[in-house]
Amino acid sequence: MASASVKVAVRVRPFNSREISRDAKCVIQMQGKTTCITNPKMTKDAAKNFTFDYSYWSHTSEEDPHFASQWQVYKDIGEEMLLHAFEGYNVCIFAYGQTGAGKSYTMMGRQETGQQGIIPQLCEDLFARIAQSRAHDLSYSVEMALPDLYCVRQFVLQNPTCFSFDITEEMNLWPDSQQNNIKCIEGKTSKFGLLAFPLHLSPRTVAATNMNETSSRSHAVFTIVFTQRRHDELTDLDTEKVSKISLVDLAGSERADSSGAKGMRLKEGANINKSLTTLGKVISALAELQNNKKKKSDFIPYRDSVLTWLLKENLGGNSRTAMIAALSPADISYEETLSTLRYADRTKQIRCNAVINEDPNA
Ligand code: ADP
Ligand code: MG
Repeated sequence: MASASVKVAVRVRPFNSREISRDAKCVIQMQGKTTCITNPKMTKDAAKNFTFDYSYWSHTSEEDPHFASQWQVYKDIGEEMLLHAFEGYNVCIFAYGQTGAGKSYTMMGRQETGQQGIIPQLCEDLFARIAQSRAHDLSYSVEMALPDLYCVRQFVLQNPTCFSFDITEEMNLWPDSQQNNIKCIEGKTSKFGLLAFPLHLSPRTVAATNMNETSSRSHAVFTIVFTQRRHDELTDLDTEKVSKISLVDLAGSERADSSGAKGMRLKEGANINKSLTTLGKVISALAELQNNKKKKSDFIPYRDSVLTWLLKENLGGNSRTAMIAALSPADISYEETLSTLRYADRTKQIRCNAVINEDPNA
């Protein structure tokens, strides 16, 4: 059994048009793994420093030697988690932060070259590694559940060169998003044809609130169940390694009142806040457990929200887990950004006990 801390990264994005038009100032600085935030109202106050596994400076552009690209973020976090999945561990990457801070950009990204986020890069890498596999005794199966689509697609790769693609099952992943359209690709596809689908097919619930720009009001959980089956010629036995890969784009962490939501929106906001509050409680409880302030038997409130129940295994359970906290650079978001940094800081203290999911079956 390998005990590993939750990997925690923070990432700061460029100013958006709203921030530029308000002549926003950047309150975030980064040096190495350390992120520093300055209170815009009290500039004489000591700035607050936080150290993480990674502090990604994506506020500028490629020309800046400190700039962290989509590829860099994938290389450090996505690839590491994918390699753990090949080892047979469950893995989880979740993006946390205020609406507009860059969660979806980090997880999904944009379709243009170089702008793709962790999910499409990880899918591409997963299939490329399977296709390159030369082991004759190995077969792979990949099942995917897309957020808001409910369709599980199964790719069975007996021999890496022959590829079949069927929709096998419908699955209700997240109760909040039942009203969404269900769209499916039918039939067979070429080996690489499918790699683009996460970008083409993600009709997320997006509504404009006062946060303007884009706003996501639901949690999106993208799940891949990756199975590696090894056949032993000598004994004629199969062994199976199963890894669940959960890639999560959480709803915005801002308080409902700051986004000006009313009516249904406010109610939804309250639900989202409840699940994020519960996530915070679970994270705090796990962090305290780590600091020996609590006994193991103490209650961790996983069951208080669907989100924490879904992520139970990934938080303190059998999983290698990474969190990416998305930060707005702007002075106007100081309070929210500071609270995101504190949340990320607490998450660092969680340790998970991951075991390889290997089952010999005769
Ligand atoms: P969230 O999902 O947290 O609400 P988004 O990922 O949708 O936020 O980001 C808000 C806007 O900022 C989008 O237009 C997105 O493309 C842009 N953006 C976010 N992060 C970056 C980044 N690192 N580089 C460039 N643009 C970004
Ligand atoms: Mg989003």
